[in-house]
Amino acid sequence: MSSSMEIADARLYADGMRQQIKRFATLTIQLEIVDDVRQWCLENETAGCIGNPVGIAIGCTGGYLDGLILVRQKIDASLVRGVTSRIMIPSAQSLLATPQAWLDFLVLHELAHLENKWGQEREDDCDSWAMERFLAGRKQND
Ligand SMILES: [Zn+2]
Repeated sequence: MSSSMEIADARLYADGMRQQIKRFATLTIQLEIVDDVRQWCLENETAGCIGNPVGIAIGCTGGYLDGLILVRQKIDASLVRGVTSRIMIPSAQSLLATPQAWLDFLVLHELAHLENKWGQEREDDCDSWAMERFLAGRKQND
């Protein structure tokens, strides 16, 4: 519940994030936890990284993968807060109050970009798409 929640090591939650992808992706998507998303994009000559986001969706063509989702390994409290505060869904704050829930949602948001071929101008649509599935996934787990 705390607004000072930070994610010290996203790798601890990777299994859960991969389950979300497995459950909701129709494409073949791989999740990678990286030190620094921007640095990774520079090193891999991947265009389209604006600033240094905590997560990014990268479409792939020509190989066995349709897309990659990158998530930053360590996400400090101010970054967590920044992402959560952008979500225009009323109950998001309380629903995403644990590292696993927050990261699951982040991954579903990135998956929304890939599955729907939505660009950065569709952030709110990605959030809605992600929240629908996040809630469905929780129901299934109850
Ligand atoms: Zn987005």
